[in-house]
Amino acid sequence: MWKWRRLMRLSNRSLMAFIFFFSMSTTCLYFIYVAPGIVNTYFFMVQAQGIMLRDNVRTIGHMIRLYTNKNSTLNGTDYPDGNNSSEYIAQPTTYLPENFTYAQNLPCPERLPSMKGQMEVNMTEAPMEETELKLKHLDIQFGGHWKPKDCKPRWKVAILIPFRNRHEHLPILFQHLAPMLQRQRLQFAFYVIEQTGTQPFNRAMLFNVGFKEAMKDLDWDCVVFHDVDHIPENDRNYYGCGQMPRHFAAKLDKYMYILPYNEFFGGVSGLTVEQFLKINGFPNAFWGWGGEDDDLWNRVHYAGFNVTRPEGDIGKYKSIPHHHRGEVQFLGRYKLLRYSKERQHLDGLNNLQYSPEISLSSLYKNITVNLNPELAPIADEGWGDVGRAEMRERCRLAVALEWHLEYTWAMTTLCC
Ligand code: BGC
Repeated sequence: MWKWRRLMRLSNRSLMAFIFFFSMSTTCLYFIYVAPGIVNTYFFMVQAQGIMLRDNVRTIGHMIRLYTNKNSTLNGTDYPDGNNSSEYIAQPTTYLPENFTYAQNLPCPERLPSMKGQMEVNMTEAPMEETELKLKHLDIQFGGHWKPKDCKPRWKVAILIPFRNRHEHLPILFQHLAPMLQRQRLQFAFYVIEQTGTQPFNRAMLFNVGFKEAMKDLDWDCVVFHDVDHIPENDRNYYGCGQMPRHFAAKLDKYMYILPYNEFFGGVSGLTVEQFLKINGFPNAFWGWGGEDDDLWNRVHYAGFNVTRPEGDIGKYKSIPHHHRGEVQFLGRYKLLRYSKERQHLDGLNNLQYSPEISLSSLYKNITVNLNPELAPIADEGWGDVGRAEMRERCRLAVALEWHLEYTWAMTTLCC
């Protein structure tokens, strides 16, 4: 009896110790891997608020100066000083009139009367089947293809959407994007590239897979890389490509509609097939959240391109709020970014192998892939000490952490 009680006491103690160390380690890992991602977003939000505040103070100052100085007048071309001054310039009103007639043998214009500007954004979640029914009148071909019949589409655009565990987001995106692209008279198809397996999310590699698969379907000339949770707010944000790569998602609501930094290339971007081939696609080595879009920016510039963005409010997007905890962030990104130039032609479209599973549904083609670092071997590791072995090690660590967090998340949900 005495022995039994002693044993119980001991096991109680060890249980407490186990719980204590488990929560401590989870908290530590959380602060190392996930919190910085959240802090990053928070930082850009606070920065945006600061910029807005500064602009408001400047505008008020300007108004006071105008009021006190009777000699100056505020005419149509006056706008407050500051980086965002271009926003005060009136948007060009060169959109075609309502009575414009289309011709089947002529290219569809870029500024159509059907593009009205600000769209209503509805974030209500709905099942995919309901959305398919709702969009039936759009006459989208099974598998997600559509092209205008009354004029020749100016661009054939493949829309690539990297995906994992966001089933509630897809219908919301389609409900906004499909009608918008039709109003823009673009030929398009949706490709959802879904990552399975236990590795951290690799947005960039999914885009590379999507690109290769889409090119097997049709000779697309423009590719749009689209996050599933970014909803355009303005249908004049034309999803065609141009002489230069384009960053469509210039103003995100989560950053108070202010570009977080000049080199920001995340959310939604677009390149011609030629441009994307020239830069060797996205890097494959970014496992987890962050950095791959910055690397794409570097690639684009090393290839001699500049990035264009929609002007004024046209590049506004709303982000669907996440119900999920943050993805594990990729801590190795800063080191990889230092070697962007050296890695550009070693890692990308040219070193990627994969075995996809493909299925069609009413609105899109689903490409499922199980990704791991072995699929993108790097022949020459002379570009720095972030070699293949180290990458594999980092991946293992991130996977372990993700399981750990997944477990804690499940326990917290169950208990609270
Ligand atoms: C990350 C990018 C991300 C950006 C905005 C940067 O620190 O490297 O991948 O898009 O923050 O959140």
